[in-house]
Amino acid sequence: MSSSDFHIQLRGIKKSYLFRKKPRLILDNLDFTAKKGEFLCLLGASGSGKSTLVRLIAGLEQPDSGSVLHGGQKVSAPSDKRILVFQDGALFPWLTVEENIAFGLNSKKIPRSEQKEKIDKVLKTVGLEEFRQAYIHQLSGGMKQRVAIARAIVLEPEVLLMDEPFAALDAQTRDQLHLELQDIWRKTGCTIVFVTHNVRESVRLGDRVLLLSSNPGKVVKEYSVSIPHPRYIEDHAVVDLSREILKSLKLVVQASEQSAK
Ligand code: ADP
Ligand code: MG
Repeated sequence: MSSSDFHIQLRGIKKSYLFRKKPRLILDNLDFTAKKGEFLCLLGASGSGKSTLVRLIAGLEQPDSGSVLHGGQKVSAPSDKRILVFQDGALFPWLTVEENIAFGLNSKKIPRSEQKEKIDKVLKTVGLEEFRQAYIHQLSGGMKQRVAIARAIVLEPEVLLMDEPFAALDAQTRDQLHLELQDIWRKTGCTIVFVTHNVRESVRLGDRVLLLSSNPGKVVKEYSVSIPHPRYIEDHAVVDLSREILKSLKLVVQASEQSAK
Protein backbone atom coordinates (compact mmCIF):
# COMPACT_ATOMS: atom_id res chain seq x y z
CA MET A 1 0.00 0.00 0.00
CA SER A 2 1.46 3.39 -0.94
CA SER A 3 1.06 6.37 1.38
CA SER A 4 -1.51 7.93 -1.01
CA ASP A 5 -3.90 5.05 -0.22
CA PHE A 6 -4.28 6.56 3.22
CA HIS A 7 -6.80 9.36 3.21
CA ILE A 8 -5.87 10.71 6.59
CA GLN A 9 -2.48 10.08 8.08
CA LEU A 10 -1.14 11.17 11.47
CA ARG A 11 2.57 10.80 12.02
CA GLY A 12 4.36 11.24 15.32
CA ILE A 13 1.89 13.78 16.66
CA LYS A 14 2.83 15.49 19.91
CA LYS A 15 0.68 18.16 21.47
CA SER A 16 0.90 19.85 24.83
CA TYR A 17 -1.01 22.60 26.55
CA LEU A 18 0.08 24.87 29.36
CA PHE A 19 -1.27 23.73 32.69
CA ARG A 20 -0.43 25.97 35.66
CA LYS A 21 2.17 27.63 33.45
CA LYS A 22 3.89 24.33 32.66
CA PRO A 23 3.51 22.36 29.42
CA ARG A 24 1.49 19.20 29.87
CA LEU A 25 1.71 16.52 27.21
CA ILE A 26 -1.79 15.67 25.93
CA LEU A 27 -0.97 13.58 22.85
CA ASP A 28 2.29 11.69 22.61
CA ASN A 29 3.78 10.29 19.44
CA LEU A 30 0.44 9.44 17.97
CA ASP A 31 0.34 7.57 14.69
CA PHE A 32 -2.63 6.29 12.76
CA THR A 33 -4.24 6.31 9.35
CA ALA A 34 -7.73 6.18 7.89
CA LYS A 35 -8.40 4.76 4.46
CA LYS A 36 -10.64 6.53 1.96
CA GLY A 37 -14.27 5.81 2.78
CA GLU A 38 -13.44 4.19 6.10
CA PHE A 39 -15.54 4.67 9.23
CA LEU A 40 -12.92 5.02 11.94
CA CYS A 41 -13.86 5.33 15.60
CA LEU A 42 -11.52 6.84 18.18
CA LEU A 43 -12.44 5.59 21.62
CA GLY A 44 -11.04 7.05 24.81
CA ALA A 45 -11.92 8.15 28.30
CA SER A 46 -12.87 11.72 29.02
CA GLY A 47 -9.76 13.91 29.01
CA SER A 48 -7.74 11.54 26.82
CA GLY A 49 -7.32 14.22 24.16
CA LYS A 50 -9.98 13.14 21.66
CA SER A 51 -11.27 16.65 20.97
CA THR A 52 -7.72 17.93 20.67
CA LEU A 53 -7.06 15.19 18.16
CA VAL A 54 -10.02 15.99 15.90
CA ARG A 55 -9.22 19.71 16.05
CA LEU A 56 -5.73 18.81 14.77
CA ILE A 57 -7.20 16.74 11.92
CA ALA A 58 -9.61 19.59 11.12
CA GLY A 59 -6.66 21.97 10.91
CA LEU A 60 -8.05 24.17 13.70
CA GLU A 61 -4.86 23.58 15.69
CA GLN A 62 -1.32 22.59 14.90
CA PRO A 63 0.72 19.86 16.60
CA ASP A 64 3.95 20.70 18.48
CA SER A 65 5.65 18.11 16.28
CA GLY A 66 4.63 15.49 13.75
CA SER A 67 2.18 15.99 10.92
CA VAL A 68 -1.38 15.46 9.79
CA LEU A 69 -1.77 14.59 6.11
CA HIS A 70 -4.98 14.59 4.08
CA GLY A 71 -4.64 12.87 0.71
CA GLY A 72 -0.88 13.13 1.11
CA GLN A 73 -1.00 16.93 1.69
CA LYS A 74 -0.05 18.51 4.98
CA VAL A 75 -3.03 19.93 6.87
CA SER A 76 -2.14 23.47 7.87
CA ALA A 77 -5.54 25.21 8.06
CA PRO A 78 -9.27 24.35 8.20
CA SER A 79 -10.92 23.38 4.91
CA ASP A 80 -14.35 22.50 3.57
CA LYS A 81 -12.88 19.13 2.69
CA ARG A 82 -12.84 18.26 6.39
CA ILE A 83 -15.87 19.33 8.40
CA LEU A 84 -16.18 18.94 12.15
CA VAL A 85 -19.52 18.19 13.83
CA PHE A 86 -19.58 18.97 17.55
CA GLN A 87 -21.45 17.40 20.45
CA ASP A 88 -23.71 20.42 20.86
CA GLY A 89 -24.07 20.96 17.12
CA ALA A 90 -22.65 24.51 17.45
CA LEU A 91 -25.65 25.88 15.51
CA PHE A 92 -26.74 29.52 15.31
CA PRO A 93 -29.87 29.72 17.48
CA TRP A 94 -31.02 32.98 15.89
CA LEU A 95 -31.13 31.44 12.42
CA THR A 96 -33.62 28.99 10.94
CA VAL A 97 -32.77 25.42 9.98
CA GLU A 98 -32.41 26.47 6.36
CA GLU A 99 -30.27 29.50 7.21
CA ASN A 100 -27.99 27.36 9.37
CA ILE A 101 -27.48 24.91 6.52
CA ALA A 102 -26.95 27.75 4.02
CA PHE A 103 -24.26 29.36 6.16
CA GLY A 104 -21.31 27.45 4.71
CA LEU A 105 -22.73 27.68 1.19
CA ASN A 106 -22.97 31.47 1.50
CA SER A 107 -19.34 31.75 2.48
CA LYS A 108 -18.47 29.62 -0.55
CA LYS A 109 -20.46 32.09 -2.69
CA ILE A 110 -22.66 29.39 -4.18
CA PRO A 111 -25.54 30.95 -6.19
CA ARG A 112 -28.99 30.99 -4.53
CA SER A 113 -30.66 28.62 -6.99
CA GLU A 114 -27.93 26.05 -6.57
CA GLN A 115 -28.08 26.51 -2.78
CA LYS A 116 -31.79 25.72 -2.75
CA GLU A 117 -31.25 22.50 -4.64
CA LYS A 118 -28.49 21.39 -2.29
CA ILE A 119 -30.45 22.36 0.83
CA ASP A 120 -33.57 20.50 -0.40
CA LYS A 121 -31.47 17.41 -0.92
CA VAL A 122 -29.84 17.39 2.52
CA LEU A 123 -33.08 18.27 4.30
CA LYS A 124 -34.55 15.19 2.71
CA THR A 125 -31.53 13.08 3.70
CA VAL A 126 -31.92 14.04 7.37
CA GLY A 127 -35.74 14.02 7.28
CA LEU A 128 -36.26 17.68 8.19
CA GLU A 129 -38.04 18.98 5.08
CA GLU A 130 -40.96 20.20 7.14
CA PHE A 131 -38.75 22.10 9.56
CA ARG A 132 -36.77 24.26 7.17
CA GLN A 133 -38.30 27.49 8.56
CA ALA A 134 -38.09 26.43 12.22
CA TYR A 135 -35.66 28.12 14.62
CA ILE A 136 -33.07 25.98 16.33
CA HIS A 137 -34.56 26.52 19.80
CA GLN A 138 -37.81 24.96 18.56
CA LEU A 139 -36.08 21.65 17.82
CA SER A 140 -35.38 18.56 19.93
CA GLY A 141 -31.79 17.46 20.63
CA GLY A 142 -31.90 14.81 17.92
CA MET A 143 -33.26 17.27 15.36
CA LYS A 144 -30.51 19.76 16.22
CA GLN A 145 -27.87 17.12 15.53
CA ARG A 146 -29.58 16.32 12.23
CA VAL A 147 -29.25 20.00 11.29
CA ALA A 148 -25.58 19.92 12.32
CA ILE A 149 -25.02 16.88 10.10
CA ALA A 150 -26.96 18.48 7.24
CA ARG A 151 -24.90 21.68 7.55
CA ALA A 152 -21.73 19.57 7.29
CA ILE A 153 -22.71 17.25 4.42
CA VAL A 154 -24.17 20.04 2.27
CA LEU A 155 -20.55 21.11 1.75
CA GLU A 156 -19.77 17.62 0.43
CA PRO A 157 -16.68 17.12 2.59
CA GLU A 158 -14.26 14.30 1.86
CA VAL A 159 -13.87 13.74 5.58
CA LEU A 160 -16.52 14.10 8.24
CA LEU A 161 -15.04 14.58 11.71
CA MET A 162 -17.50 13.93 14.51
CA ASP A 163 -16.72 14.80 18.13
CA GLU A 164 -19.12 12.83 20.36
CA PRO A 165 -22.05 14.11 18.28
CA PHE A 166 -24.67 11.94 19.98
CA ALA A 167 -23.37 11.95 23.56
CA ALA A 168 -26.10 14.23 24.87
CA LEU A 169 -28.99 12.32 23.28
CA ASP A 170 -31.27 9.72 24.82
CA ALA A 171 -30.64 6.10 23.83
CA GLN A 172 -33.54 5.84 21.39
CA THR A 173 -32.70 9.02 19.52
CA ARG A 174 -29.05 7.99 19.40
CA ASP A 175 -30.04 4.63 17.96
CA GLN A 176 -32.06 6.31 15.22
CA LEU A 177 -29.22 8.70 14.39
CA HIS A 178 -26.77 5.78 14.20
CA LEU A 179 -28.94 4.28 11.48
CA GLU A 180 -29.23 7.58 9.63
CA LEU A 181 -25.51 8.31 9.87
CA GLN A 182 -24.69 4.90 8.50
CA ASP A 183 -27.01 5.57 5.60
CA ILE A 184 -25.37 8.94 4.92
CA TRP A 185 -21.93 7.31 5.06
CA ARG A 186 -22.95 4.69 2.51
CA LYS A 187 -24.53 7.26 0.18
CA THR A 188 -21.74 9.84 0.32
CA GLY A 189 -18.77 7.47 0.57
CA CYS A 190 -17.00 10.00 2.78
CA THR A 191 -14.34 9.06 5.29
CA ILE A 192 -15.64 9.39 8.84
CA VAL A 193 -13.51 9.90 11.94
CA PHE A 194 -15.90 9.51 14.83
CA VAL A 195 -14.85 10.25 18.40
CA THR A 196 -16.67 8.67 21.31
CA HIS A 197 -16.27 7.43 24.86
CA ASN A 198 -19.13 4.96 24.29
CA VAL A 199 -17.77 1.48 23.53
CA ARG A 200 -20.99 0.06 22.07
CA GLU A 201 -21.39 3.08 19.83
CA SER A 202 -17.86 2.59 18.47
CA VAL A 203 -18.50 -1.10 17.73
CA ARG A 204 -21.84 -0.44 16.18
CA LEU A 205 -20.52 2.19 13.80
CA GLY A 206 -16.83 1.58 13.11
CA ASP A 207 -14.94 -0.44 10.52
CA ARG A 208 -12.11 -0.04 12.99
CA VAL A 209 -11.91 1.14 16.57
CA LEU A 210 -8.73 2.71 17.93
CA LEU A 211 -8.44 2.68 21.69
CA LEU A 212 -6.65 5.73 23.12
CA SER A 213 -4.82 5.88 26.43
CA SER A 214 -4.99 8.95 28.65
CA ASN A 215 -2.22 11.09 30.17
CA PRO A 216 -0.93 11.24 27.49
CA GLY A 217 -3.13 10.03 24.64
CA LYS A 218 -1.69 7.34 22.40
CA VAL A 219 -3.22 4.57 20.31
CA VAL A 220 -2.88 1.50 22.54
CA LYS A 221 -5.04 -1.01 20.68
CA GLU A 222 -6.77 -1.42 17.40
CA TYR A 223 -9.84 -3.53 16.69
CA SER A 224 -11.18 -4.42 13.26
CA VAL A 225 -14.95 -4.74 13.33
CA SER A 226 -16.11 -7.22 10.71
CA ILE A 227 -19.68 -7.61 12.01
CA PRO A 228 -22.02 -7.26 9.00
CA HIS A 229 -24.32 -4.23 8.60
CA PRO A 230 -26.91 -3.28 9.64
CA ARG A 231 -25.65 -3.70 13.18
CA TYR A 232 -27.74 -3.11 16.23
CA ILE A 233 -26.57 -2.15 19.68
CA GLU A 234 -28.12 -5.33 21.14
CA ASP A 235 -26.58 -7.77 18.60
CA HIS A 236 -24.64 -10.56 20.33
CA ALA A 237 -21.57 -9.90 18.23
CA VAL A 238 -21.69 -6.16 19.11
CA VAL A 239 -22.16 -6.93 22.81
CA ASP A 240 -19.32 -9.51 22.85
CA LEU A 241 -16.76 -7.32 21.14
CA SER A 242 -17.83 -4.34 23.28
CA ARG A 243 -17.21 -6.39 26.40
CA GLU A 244 -13.70 -7.22 25.23
CA ILE A 245 -12.92 -3.60 24.38
CA LEU A 246 -14.41 -2.37 27.64
CA LYS A 247 -11.99 -4.60 29.57
CA SER A 248 -9.06 -2.97 27.77
CA LEU A 249 -10.53 0.50 28.28
CA LYS A 250 -10.80 -0.13 32.02
CA LEU A 251 -7.14 -1.21 32.15
CA VAL A 252 -6.15 1.91 30.22
CA VAL A 253 -8.09 4.15 32.61
CA GLN A 254 -6.56 2.42 35.66
CA ALA A 255 -3.08 2.80 34.20
CA SER A 256 -3.61 6.50 33.53
CA GLU A 257 -4.93 7.04 37.08
CA GLN A 258 -1.79 5.34 38.40
CA SER A 259 0.48 7.49 36.26
CA ALA A 260 -1.36 10.64 37.37
CA LYS A 261 -0.67 9.88 41.08
P1 ADP B 1 -11.39 14.67 25.50
O1 ADP B 1 -12.06 15.26 24.32
O2 ADP B 1 -10.87 13.29 25.28
O3 ADP B 1 -12.23 14.73 26.74
P2 ADP B 1 -9.70 17.03 25.31
O4 ADP B 1 -8.94 16.96 24.04
O5 ADP B 1 -10.85 17.95 25.39
O6 ADP B 1 -10.07 15.55 25.79
O7 ADP B 1 -8.70 17.48 26.46
C1 ADP B 1 -7.53 16.75 26.81
C2 ADP B 1 -6.80 17.51 27.90
O8 ADP B 1 -6.30 18.73 27.37
C3 ADP B 1 -7.66 17.88 29.08
O9 ADP B 1 -6.90 17.73 30.24
C4 ADP B 1 -7.99 19.33 28.84
O10 ADP B 1 -8.18 20.01 30.04
C5 ADP B 1 -6.76 19.83 28.12
N1 ADP B 1 -7.05 20.90 27.15
C6 ADP B 1 -7.86 20.79 26.08
N2 ADP B 1 -7.88 21.93 25.36
C7 ADP B 1 -7.08 22.81 26.02
C8 ADP B 1 -6.69 24.17 25.80
N3 ADP B 1 -7.12 24.86 24.73
N4 ADP B 1 -5.84 24.73 26.71
C9 ADP B 1 -5.41 24.04 27.77
N5 ADP B 1 -5.72 22.74 28.05
C10 ADP B 1 -6.55 22.15 27.19
MG1 MG C 1 -13.97 15.93 24.00
